[in-house]
Amino acid sequence: MIEFFFFNFFAPNELLYWRRILWSSQFYPQDKQKKLQWQLFSRILDICFKNVPFYQQLFEEMGIKRSDFKSLDDLVKIPILSRETLLYNKDQFKALDFKKHRPQSIRTTGTTGASLDVYWDIHSNIMELLCQYRHFSWAGYRLGNSFLDIRSVLLNDPKGYHWNWKCRGLEFSSDIIDSTNIDRYADLLRKYKIKLWRGYPESIYYFCHLLDIAGINDVKPACIISVSVTVLDFHRHFIEAWAGVPLCDNYGMDEHVALITQCPQGGYHIASEYGIVEILKPDNTHAAPGEEGRIIATGLHNKAFPLLRYDTNDYAIASNRVCPCGRTLPLIERLTGRINDFIMDARGQWLSAPSWPMYLVNGIKKAQLVQEHQYLINLYIVPMDPALKRDDQILIDTFKERYGQSVEIKIFYVDEVPFPRYGQKYKFAHSKIKQEI
Ligand SMILES: [Zn+2]
Repeated sequence: MIEFFFFNFFAPNELLYWRRILWSSQFYPQDKQKKLQWQLFSRILDICFKNVPFYQQLFEEMGIKRSDFKSLDDLVKIPILSRETLLYNKDQFKALDFKKHRPQSIRTTGTTGASLDVYWDIHSNIMELLCQYRHFSWAGYRLGNSFLDIRSVLLNDPKGYHWNWKCRGLEFSSDIIDSTNIDRYADLLRKYKIKLWRGYPESIYYFCHLLDIAGINDVKPACIISVSVTVLDFHRHFIEAWAGVPLCDNYGMDEHVALITQCPQGGYHIASEYGIVEILKPDNTHAAPGEEGRIIATGLHNKAFPLLRYDTNDYAIASNRVCPCGRTLPLIERLTGRINDFIMDARGQWLSAPSWPMYLVNGIKKAQLVQEHQYLINLYIVPMDPALKRDDQILIDTFKERYGQSVEIKIFYVDEVPFPRYGQKYKFAHSKIKQEI
């Protein structure tokens, strides 16, 4: 939860301009969307050529001129930017007129845990605010509605919750909510008339479970948005069944280069006005519809700290489908996880870790697959109730089917999963084999 300061968004003309565009452009025909994207990309390219030392040096070394970029197809001329390159050359990405764009420093930990400072400027902040607001509005939110933000975080408030009056956000930490105080938290939802819930999917899942067990049914949300981590199938399954509304996933990044938001009809829409999203196979060619690849993103608004073709280390499946909701923003099929959500199978192939087998077994609070070596995977389960009916064989059979019969699957019932380490986010799968994909 990042503190909300009006100053970081105070550019009324720009706000109003983009508020008007974004509510129309989500329905633009594809060629008009591409035209807008090209205009925005051209503007960022101009800035990189004129004002950003890293890109000035890179383009000069490669012999690329500004006139070599004539359409969006020329984007592929730019090499992919790794997090490591950014980490070691961070200051070179600052534009020469950096200060003019009101930059704000943000520390990210990323998937590897190594911290990196990036910068948001006023323009990318406005785009972030409006695109998030647009996503809220898809889910049914209206300006002025109060909402719940629930995550697994350290909450420095002796009351055990925080009311952020500036954006009408009620903040909970799922770490301190349990069956002994769930009534009090339900009262807070009633007091603040909460309509929308957003937060980590595992926190939302856990909170729904506690309300369900306590028989509290009058505080169900009208809309739900999950953020920050990949939604696991068994989380989605339970949340949607309990709440009776769809869970809309929201994928963004601290680097402000890509935003993918799910509509209530299930489509994962790329906010094409916010950033350019490419899905690349291991050989760096574009994935065809139905194929999985890495998300490579180019932010279109950050004039203080522009990042082109940034490798997010996240994975998605490409799509050419059209969404029944009527929005024409392009789709991906789905997000498949982060680079370190993958597990190596018996043949030596890296496969994403499906979490759907976990909803074959009821009453699981948290679960995690930890690959010790290629032929041993430990599954850690934190039960909601210590008297959980244990049905291990179905889980063992399902994971063996995916990773190979020669892989041993051991199940442990524990109070807490082994990862994350301090300062990292929970993820379903963790492999101890060094990954080179
Ligand atoms: Zn849609």
